[in-house]
Amino acid sequence: MKKINRIIVLLLLGSYIYSVKPSNKPDATTSKLTHTSTLRPSTVSPITGATLGVVGATLGGVLIGGYHLIKYLFGERNNRVAMQPAVRVPIVGGKIYNSTICAGLDSFIHPFDSMKYGKVEKYLKKYFKKRNRNVQFYTPTEVSQDDLALVHTQAYIDLINTNKQAISEIVEVSPLAIAPRFLIEKILLRPMRLATGGTIQAARLALAHGWAINLGGGYHHAKSQELERGGYCIYADIPIAVRKLWQEVDQNLNVLIIDLDAHQGNGHEAVLGDDERVAIFDMYNGDTYPQDEDAKSQITFDFPIRQGTEDQAYLDLLETELPAALDQLEKEKRKPDLIIYNAGTDILQGDPEGQLSISMAGIIQRDEIVFRQAKNRQIPILYLFSGGYTKSSLLNRRTGSAYVISKSLKNILDNIIEVGETPAGQIPSLFEG
Ligand SMILES: [Zn+2]
Repeated sequence: MKKINRIIVLLLLGSYIYSVKPSNKPDATTSKLTHTSTLRPSTVSPITGATLGVVGATLGGVLIGGYHLIKYLFGERNNRVAMQPAVRVPIVGGKIYNSTICAGLDSFIHPFDSMKYGKVEKYLKKYFKKRNRNVQFYTPTEVSQDDLALVHTQAYIDLINTNKQAISEIVEVSPLAIAPRFLIEKILLRPMRLATGGTIQAARLALAHGWAINLGGGYHHAKSQELERGGYCIYADIPIAVRKLWQEVDQNLNVLIIDLDAHQGNGHEAVLGDDERVAIFDMYNGDTYPQDEDAKSQITFDFPIRQGTEDQAYLDLLETELPAALDQLEKEKRKPDLIIYNAGTDILQGDPEGQLSISMAGIIQRDEIVFRQAKNRQIPILYLFSGGYTKSSLLNRRTGSAYVISKSLKNILDNIIEVGETPAGQIPSLFEG
Protein backbone atom coordinates (compact mmCIF):
# COMPACT_ATOMS: atom_id res chain seq x y z
CA MET A 1 0.00 0.00 0.00
CA LYS A 2 1.26 3.48 -0.82
CA LYS A 3 2.60 5.55 2.06
CA ILE A 4 -0.16 8.17 1.77
CA ASN A 5 -2.89 5.50 1.96
CA ARG A 6 -1.27 4.01 5.05
CA ILE A 7 -1.14 7.42 6.74
CA ILE A 8 -4.80 8.18 5.98
CA VAL A 9 -5.97 4.75 7.17
CA LEU A 10 -3.90 4.99 10.36
CA LEU A 11 -5.25 8.48 11.10
CA LEU A 12 -8.83 7.28 10.64
CA LEU A 13 -8.32 4.19 12.75
CA GLY A 14 -6.68 6.28 15.45
CA SER A 15 -9.47 8.85 15.53
CA TYR A 16 -12.13 6.14 15.64
CA ILE A 17 -10.49 4.22 18.47
CA TYR A 18 -9.95 7.45 20.40
CA SER A 19 -13.60 8.39 20.00
CA VAL A 20 -15.03 5.11 21.38
CA LYS A 21 -12.40 3.81 23.83
CA PRO A 22 -12.81 4.42 27.55
CA SER A 23 -10.34 6.79 29.19
CA ASN A 24 -7.64 4.98 31.11
CA LYS A 25 -6.92 7.89 33.43
CA PRO A 26 -7.46 6.77 37.01
CA ASP A 27 -10.20 8.55 38.83
CA ALA A 28 -8.44 10.70 41.38
CA THR A 29 -10.91 10.07 44.20
CA THR A 30 -11.40 6.32 43.79
CA SER A 31 -7.79 5.42 43.08
CA LYS A 32 -6.68 7.23 46.18
CA LEU A 33 -8.93 5.03 48.28
CA THR A 34 -8.70 1.67 46.53
CA HIS A 35 -5.26 1.86 44.80
CA THR A 36 -6.86 0.25 41.76
CA SER A 37 -6.78 1.69 38.28
CA THR A 38 -10.46 2.32 38.04
CA LEU A 39 -11.41 3.30 34.51
CA ARG A 40 -13.59 6.25 33.91
CA PRO A 41 -16.36 5.61 31.39
CA SER A 42 -15.92 7.32 28.05
CA THR A 43 -17.31 10.81 27.81
CA VAL A 44 -18.43 9.94 24.23
CA SER A 45 -21.58 7.86 24.00
CA PRO A 46 -21.45 4.69 21.79
CA ILE A 47 -23.87 6.29 19.31
CA THR A 48 -21.68 9.41 18.91
CA GLY A 49 -18.60 7.18 18.55
CA ALA A 50 -20.20 5.08 15.82
CA THR A 51 -21.33 8.24 14.00
CA LEU A 52 -17.79 9.64 14.16
CA GLY A 53 -16.46 6.35 12.83
CA VAL A 54 -18.85 6.38 9.86
CA VAL A 55 -18.05 10.03 9.10
CA GLY A 56 -14.33 9.30 9.41
CA ALA A 57 -14.50 6.26 7.11
CA THR A 58 -16.47 8.27 4.52
CA LEU A 59 -13.93 11.10 4.71
CA GLY A 60 -11.14 8.57 4.34
CA GLY A 61 -12.76 7.03 1.32
CA VAL A 62 -13.14 10.46 -0.28
CA LEU A 63 -9.49 11.31 0.46
CA ILE A 64 -8.09 8.04 -0.90
CA GLY A 65 -10.39 8.15 -3.94
CA GLY A 66 -9.49 11.81 -4.57
CA TYR A 67 -5.79 11.08 -4.29
CA HIS A 68 -6.00 8.28 -6.88
CA LEU A 69 -8.21 10.35 -9.18
CA ILE A 70 -5.72 13.23 -9.14
CA LYS A 71 -2.86 10.79 -9.69
CA TYR A 72 -4.71 9.19 -12.57
CA LEU A 73 -5.50 12.50 -14.22
CA PHE A 74 -2.25 14.38 -13.69
CA GLY A 75 0.36 11.87 -12.61
CA GLU A 76 0.66 9.81 -15.75
CA ARG A 77 4.12 11.06 -16.59
CA ASN A 78 5.50 10.56 -13.07
CA ASN A 79 3.89 7.16 -12.98
CA ARG A 80 5.67 6.16 -16.16
CA VAL A 81 9.06 7.19 -14.74
CA ALA A 82 8.40 5.28 -11.52
CA MET A 83 7.44 2.19 -13.49
CA GLN A 84 10.69 2.18 -15.49
CA PRO A 85 12.78 -0.83 -14.57
CA ALA A 86 15.82 0.21 -12.57
CA VAL A 87 19.02 0.26 -14.59
CA ARG A 88 22.03 -1.08 -12.74
CA VAL A 89 24.95 1.22 -13.46
CA PRO A 90 28.45 -0.11 -12.81
CA ILE A 91 29.05 2.09 -9.78
CA VAL A 92 29.94 0.24 -6.58
CA GLY A 93 29.74 1.13 -2.88
CA GLY A 94 29.74 4.60 -1.34
CA LYS A 95 28.27 5.23 2.08
CA ILE A 96 29.05 1.68 3.12
CA TYR A 97 32.76 2.68 3.15
CA ASN A 98 32.26 5.62 5.51
CA SER A 99 34.40 4.98 8.53
CA THR A 100 32.54 6.85 11.18
CA ILE A 101 31.31 6.59 14.74
CA CYS A 102 29.90 10.06 14.95
CA ALA A 103 30.70 13.18 12.99
CA GLY A 104 32.17 15.04 15.97
CA LEU A 105 34.74 12.36 16.73
CA ASP A 106 35.74 11.81 13.13
CA SER A 107 37.79 14.92 12.72
CA PHE A 108 39.84 13.77 15.70
CA ILE A 109 40.35 10.22 14.43
CA HIS A 110 40.76 10.70 10.69
CA PRO A 111 43.11 13.00 8.83
CA PHE A 112 40.54 13.27 6.02
CA ASP A 113 36.80 13.42 5.44
CA SER A 114 35.83 9.88 6.39
CA MET A 115 32.31 10.39 5.05
CA LYS A 116 33.38 11.38 1.53
CA TYR A 117 32.34 8.01 0.07
CA GLY A 118 28.73 8.48 1.13
CA LYS A 119 28.74 12.12 0.01
CA VAL A 120 29.78 11.18 -3.52
CA GLU A 121 27.23 8.34 -3.65
CA LYS A 122 24.49 10.76 -2.59
CA TYR A 123 25.60 13.31 -5.17
CA LEU A 124 25.60 10.75 -7.99
CA LYS A 125 22.20 9.36 -7.02
CA LYS A 126 20.81 12.91 -7.14
CA TYR A 127 22.52 13.36 -10.49
CA PHE A 128 20.61 10.43 -11.98
CA LYS A 129 17.36 11.34 -10.26
CA LYS A 130 17.45 14.86 -11.70
CA ARG A 131 17.65 13.28 -15.14
CA ASN A 132 14.75 10.93 -14.38
CA ARG A 133 17.09 7.94 -14.49
CA ASN A 134 15.93 5.09 -12.29
CA VAL A 135 19.31 3.60 -11.39
CA GLN A 136 20.73 1.19 -8.87
CA PHE A 137 24.34 1.00 -7.73
CA TYR A 138 26.06 -2.21 -6.68
CA THR A 139 26.63 -3.07 -3.04
CA PRO A 140 29.91 -4.86 -2.46
CA THR A 141 30.64 -7.69 -0.08
CA GLU A 142 33.76 -7.81 2.08
CA VAL A 143 36.86 -9.25 0.44
CA SER A 144 37.19 -12.89 1.48
CA GLN A 145 40.14 -14.28 3.41
CA ASP A 146 41.02 -16.41 0.36
CA ASP A 147 41.12 -13.33 -1.85
CA LEU A 148 43.29 -11.46 0.66
CA ALA A 149 45.66 -14.42 0.48
CA LEU A 150 46.05 -13.87 -3.28
CA VAL A 151 48.44 -11.07 -2.31
CA HIS A 152 49.07 -10.92 1.44
CA THR A 153 51.05 -13.42 3.47
CA GLN A 154 49.26 -15.17 6.34
CA ALA A 155 51.67 -13.49 8.75
CA TYR A 156 50.57 -10.06 7.46
CA ILE A 157 46.86 -10.92 7.70
CA ASP A 158 47.39 -12.21 11.26
CA LEU A 159 49.26 -9.05 12.18
CA ILE A 160 46.38 -6.88 10.96
CA ASN A 161 43.86 -9.05 12.78
CA THR A 162 45.68 -9.02 16.09
CA ASN A 163 48.14 -6.18 16.40
CA LYS A 164 46.58 -2.79 17.13
CA GLN A 165 49.98 -1.13 17.34
CA ALA A 166 50.71 -2.15 13.74
CA ILE A 167 47.43 -0.70 12.53
CA SER A 168 47.97 2.54 14.38
CA GLU A 169 51.36 2.86 12.65
CA ILE A 170 49.95 2.24 9.17
CA VAL A 171 47.32 4.92 9.56
CA GLU A 172 49.45 7.13 11.81
CA VAL A 173 46.76 7.52 14.45
CA SER A 174 48.44 6.57 17.73
CA PRO A 175 45.26 6.42 19.90
CA LEU A 176 44.20 3.39 17.85
CA ALA A 177 46.89 1.35 19.60
CA ILE A 178 44.81 1.47 22.78
CA ALA A 179 41.34 1.57 21.18
CA PRO A 180 39.03 -1.42 21.64
CA ARG A 181 39.24 -3.99 18.88
CA PHE A 182 35.58 -3.65 17.88
CA LEU A 183 36.11 0.07 17.25
CA ILE A 184 39.07 -0.56 14.95
CA GLU A 185 36.98 -3.12 13.11
CA LYS A 186 34.05 -0.72 12.76
CA ILE A 187 35.79 2.46 11.74
CA LEU A 188 38.73 1.08 9.81
CA LEU A 189 39.11 -2.57 8.89
CA ARG A 190 35.56 -3.44 7.85
CA PRO A 191 35.10 -0.35 5.61
CA MET A 192 38.47 -1.11 4.01
CA ARG A 193 37.59 -4.80 3.43
CA LEU A 194 34.30 -3.69 1.88
CA ALA A 195 36.08 -1.20 -0.38
CA THR A 196 38.57 -3.92 -1.38
CA GLY A 197 35.62 -6.19 -2.23
CA GLY A 198 34.24 -3.20 -4.16
CA THR A 199 37.41 -2.91 -6.24
CA ILE A 200 37.18 -6.60 -7.18
CA GLN A 201 33.51 -6.26 -8.10
CA ALA A 202 34.06 -3.04 -10.05
CA ALA A 203 36.97 -4.63 -11.95
CA ARG A 204 34.63 -7.38 -13.18
CA LEU A 205 32.00 -4.77 -14.08
CA ALA A 206 34.53 -2.67 -15.99
CA LEU A 207 35.40 -5.66 -18.17
CA ALA A 208 31.73 -6.37 -18.80
CA HIS A 209 30.51 -2.81 -19.43
CA GLY A 210 33.53 -0.81 -20.55
CA TRP A 211 33.68 1.28 -17.40
CA ALA A 212 33.10 1.05 -13.67
CA ILE A 213 33.58 3.24 -10.64
CA ASN A 214 34.34 2.04 -7.14
CA LEU A 215 33.38 4.88 -4.78
CA GLY A 216 36.44 4.18 -2.63
CA GLY A 217 39.50 1.90 -2.71
CA GLY A 218 42.84 2.65 -4.35
CA TYR A 219 45.03 1.58 -1.39
CA HIS A 220 48.15 1.89 -3.45
CA HIS A 221 50.76 1.73 -0.66
CA ALA A 222 49.75 -1.66 0.74
CA LYS A 223 52.29 -4.43 0.12
CA SER A 224 52.21 -8.23 0.46
CA GLN A 225 53.93 -8.64 3.77
CA GLU A 226 55.66 -5.43 4.74
CA LEU A 227 53.95 -2.81 6.90
CA GLU A 228 53.74 0.54 5.08
CA ARG A 229 53.91 2.98 7.96
CA GLY A 230 52.01 6.17 7.30
CA GLY A 231 50.53 4.96 4.01
CA TYR A 232 46.96 4.68 5.27
CA CYS A 233 46.60 1.52 3.18
CA ILE A 234 46.03 -1.90 4.72
CA TYR A 235 44.66 -4.19 2.01
CA ALA A 236 46.27 -4.13 -1.46
CA ASP A 237 42.99 -3.88 -3.36
CA ILE A 238 44.48 -3.26 -6.83
CA PRO A 239 46.81 -6.30 -6.89
CA ILE A 240 44.10 -8.45 -5.29
CA ALA A 241 41.58 -7.46 -7.98
CA VAL A 242 44.12 -8.03 -10.77
CA ARG A 243 45.05 -11.51 -9.50
CA LYS A 244 41.37 -12.32 -9.05
CA LEU A 245 40.70 -11.45 -12.71
CA TRP A 246 43.63 -13.58 -13.81
CA GLN A 247 42.17 -16.41 -11.77
CA GLU A 248 38.55 -16.19 -12.90
CA VAL A 249 38.52 -14.37 -16.25
CA ASP A 250 41.74 -14.77 -18.22
CA GLN A 251 45.26 -15.42 -17.01
CA ASN A 252 46.68 -13.50 -19.96
CA LEU A 253 44.78 -10.28 -19.25
CA ASN A 254 47.01 -7.22 -19.71
CA VAL A 255 46.46 -4.47 -17.18
CA LEU A 256 47.65 -0.87 -17.17
CA ILE A 257 47.60 0.89 -13.81
CA ILE A 258 47.44 4.66 -14.25
CA ASP A 259 48.29 6.10 -10.87
CA LEU A 260 47.72 9.86 -10.65
CA ASP A 261 47.45 10.11 -6.88
CA ALA A 262 49.96 12.65 -5.52
CA HIS A 263 52.01 9.84 -4.00
CA GLN A 264 54.05 7.13 -5.67
CA GLY A 265 52.03 3.90 -5.80
CA ASN A 266 54.75 1.78 -4.22
CA GLY A 267 52.37 -0.97 -3.04
CA HIS A 268 51.09 -2.20 -6.40
CA GLU A 269 54.53 -1.51 -7.88
CA ALA A 270 56.18 -3.85 -5.36
CA VAL A 271 53.53 -6.56 -5.79
CA LEU A 272 52.88 -6.48 -9.55
CA GLY A 273 55.71 -4.44 -11.09
CA ASP A 274 57.79 -7.38 -12.31
CA ASP A 275 54.84 -9.14 -13.96
CA GLU A 276 54.88 -8.82 -17.74
CA ARG A 277 51.09 -8.60 -17.91
CA VAL A 278 51.14 -5.36 -15.91
CA ALA A 279 52.31 -1.92 -16.99
CA ILE A 280 52.37 1.01 -14.58
CA PHE A 281 52.08 4.71 -15.44
CA ASP A 282 52.81 6.75 -12.32
CA MET A 283 52.89 10.55 -12.09
CA TYR A 284 53.50 11.73 -8.51
CA ASN A 285 55.16 14.26 -6.28
CA GLY A 286 58.74 12.97 -6.16
CA ASP A 287 59.60 15.28 -3.26
CA THR A 288 57.39 13.59 -0.70
CA TYR A 289 56.44 10.20 0.81
CA PRO A 290 57.12 7.36 0.05
CA GLN A 291 60.21 7.87 -2.16
CA ASP A 292 60.46 4.10 -2.47
CA GLU A 293 63.43 3.43 -4.75
CA ASP A 294 62.93 -0.35 -4.98
CA ALA A 295 59.32 0.08 -6.07
CA LYS A 296 60.30 2.95 -8.39
CA SER A 297 62.43 0.57 -10.43
CA GLN A 298 59.23 -1.37 -11.24
CA ILE A 299 57.39 1.60 -12.80
CA THR A 300 57.01 1.24 -16.57
CA PHE A 301 56.29 4.93 -17.23
CA ASP A 302 57.79 6.93 -14.39
CA PHE A 303 57.02 10.66 -14.01
CA PRO A 304 58.08 12.16 -10.69
CA ILE A 305 57.11 15.84 -10.57
CA ARG A 306 58.19 18.66 -8.29
CA GLN A 307 56.37 19.81 -5.21
CA GLY A 308 53.98 22.69 -6.00
CA THR A 309 53.51 21.76 -9.69
CA GLU A 310 50.60 23.71 -11.20
CA ASP A 311 47.85 22.92 -13.75
CA GLN A 312 49.57 23.87 -16.99
CA ALA A 313 52.77 21.88 -16.45
CA TYR A 314 50.86 18.93 -14.97
CA LEU A 315 48.25 18.65 -17.71
CA ASP A 316 50.78 19.23 -20.52
CA LEU A 317 52.88 16.35 -19.22
CA LEU A 318 49.88 14.02 -18.89
CA GLU A 319 48.47 14.95 -22.28
CA THR A 320 51.77 14.16 -23.95
CA GLU A 321 52.97 11.14 -22.01
CA LEU A 322 49.80 9.11 -21.49
CA PRO A 323 49.00 8.69 -25.21
CA ALA A 324 52.70 8.01 -25.86
CA ALA A 325 52.69 5.26 -23.22
CA LEU A 326 49.55 3.68 -24.66
CA ASP A 327 51.02 3.88 -28.19
CA GLN A 328 54.15 2.14 -26.97
CA LEU A 329 52.19 -0.67 -25.31
CA GLU A 330 50.18 -1.20 -28.48
CA LYS A 331 53.38 -1.30 -30.52
CA GLU A 332 54.80 -3.94 -28.17
CA LYS A 333 51.58 -5.97 -28.54
CA ARG A 334 50.79 -5.33 -24.90
CA LYS A 335 47.66 -3.26 -25.38
CA PRO A 336 45.85 -3.23 -22.02
CA ASP A 337 42.63 -5.22 -21.65
CA LEU A 338 41.85 -3.10 -18.60
CA ILE A 339 42.95 0.27 -17.23
CA ILE A 340 42.86 0.66 -13.46
CA TYR A 341 42.81 4.38 -12.80
CA ASN A 342 43.92 5.40 -9.33
CA ALA A 343 42.48 8.91 -9.34
CA GLY A 344 43.71 10.40 -6.06
CA THR A 345 42.48 13.93 -5.49
CA ASP A 346 45.34 14.79 -3.13
CA ILE A 347 46.97 16.65 -6.02
CA LEU A 348 44.49 19.44 -5.19
CA GLN A 349 45.95 22.80 -4.26
CA GLY A 350 46.05 23.04 -0.47
CA ASP A 351 45.99 19.30 0.20
CA PRO A 352 48.20 18.85 3.26
CA GLU A 353 49.57 15.48 2.12
CA GLY A 354 49.92 15.84 -1.63
CA GLN A 355 51.70 19.22 -1.71
CA LEU A 356 50.93 19.85 -5.35
CA SER A 357 49.02 22.81 -6.68
CA ILE A 358 46.35 21.57 -9.07
CA SER A 359 43.01 23.36 -9.22
CA MET A 360 39.62 21.65 -9.19
CA ALA A 361 39.25 22.47 -12.89
CA GLY A 362 42.66 20.85 -13.42
CA ILE A 363 41.54 17.63 -11.71
CA ILE A 364 38.37 17.53 -13.80
CA GLN A 365 40.48 17.94 -16.93
CA ARG A 366 42.96 15.29 -15.75
CA ASP A 367 40.20 12.69 -15.28
CA GLU A 368 38.71 13.60 -18.63
CA ILE A 369 42.06 13.07 -20.39
CA VAL A 370 42.35 9.58 -18.90
CA PHE A 371 38.75 8.58 -19.68
CA ARG A 372 38.98 9.91 -23.23
CA GLN A 373 42.12 7.88 -23.88
CA ALA A 374 40.33 4.76 -22.60
CA LYS A 375 37.25 5.49 -24.68
CA ASN A 376 39.10 6.35 -27.88
CA ARG A 377 41.15 3.17 -27.64
CA GLN A 378 38.23 1.00 -26.51
CA ILE A 379 39.91 -0.07 -23.30
CA PRO A 380 37.68 -0.79 -20.28
CA ILE A 381 38.47 1.50 -17.36
CA LEU A 382 38.02 1.17 -13.60
CA TYR A 383 38.06 4.37 -11.51
CA LEU A 384 39.21 4.29 -7.85
CA PHE A 385 39.22 7.13 -5.30
CA SER A 386 42.62 6.69 -3.62
CA GLY A 387 43.97 9.66 -1.59
CA GLY A 388 42.43 13.07 -0.97
CA TYR A 389 42.83 14.80 2.37
CA THR A 390 41.03 18.08 2.06
CA LYS A 391 37.89 18.54 4.12
CA SER A 392 35.01 20.80 3.31
CA SER A 393 34.48 23.59 5.79
CA LEU A 394 31.18 24.98 6.96
CA LEU A 395 31.82 28.09 4.91
CA ASN A 396 33.16 26.45 1.79
CA ARG A 397 32.29 22.87 0.87
CA ARG A 398 34.16 23.26 -2.41
CA THR A 399 37.45 22.73 -0.59
CA GLY A 400 36.55 19.12 0.22
CA SER A 401 37.76 16.19 -1.86
CA ALA A 402 34.19 14.75 -1.94
CA TYR A 403 33.07 17.86 -3.83
CA VAL A 404 35.95 17.64 -6.31
CA ILE A 405 35.35 13.92 -6.97
CA SER A 406 31.62 14.52 -7.44
CA LYS A 407 32.15 17.32 -9.92
CA SER A 408 34.70 15.36 -11.88
CA LEU A 409 32.51 12.24 -12.09
CA LYS A 410 29.60 14.46 -13.18
CA ASN A 411 31.76 15.78 -16.00
CA ILE A 412 32.62 12.23 -17.08
CA LEU A 413 28.99 11.09 -16.95
CA ASP A 414 27.89 14.25 -18.81
CA ASN A 415 30.53 14.25 -21.53
CA ILE A 416 32.06 10.82 -21.96
CA ILE A 417 29.85 8.00 -20.77
CA GLU A 418 26.53 9.51 -21.91
CA VAL A 419 24.39 7.53 -19.49
CA GLY A 420 21.47 9.84 -20.24
CA GLU A 421 21.18 8.40 -23.74
CA THR A 422 20.89 4.81 -22.59
CA PRO A 423 17.40 3.38 -23.07
CA ALA A 424 15.69 2.11 -19.92
CA GLY A 425 16.45 -1.48 -19.07
CA GLN A 426 19.88 -1.47 -20.64
CA ILE A 427 23.19 -1.13 -18.93
CA PRO A 428 25.00 1.98 -20.15
CA SER A 429 28.35 1.31 -21.71
CA LEU A 430 31.27 3.64 -22.18
CA PHE A 431 31.30 2.71 -25.82
CA GLU A 432 27.70 3.41 -26.62
CA GLY A 433 28.09 7.17 -26.37
ZN1 LIG B 1 48.16 10.04 -1.98
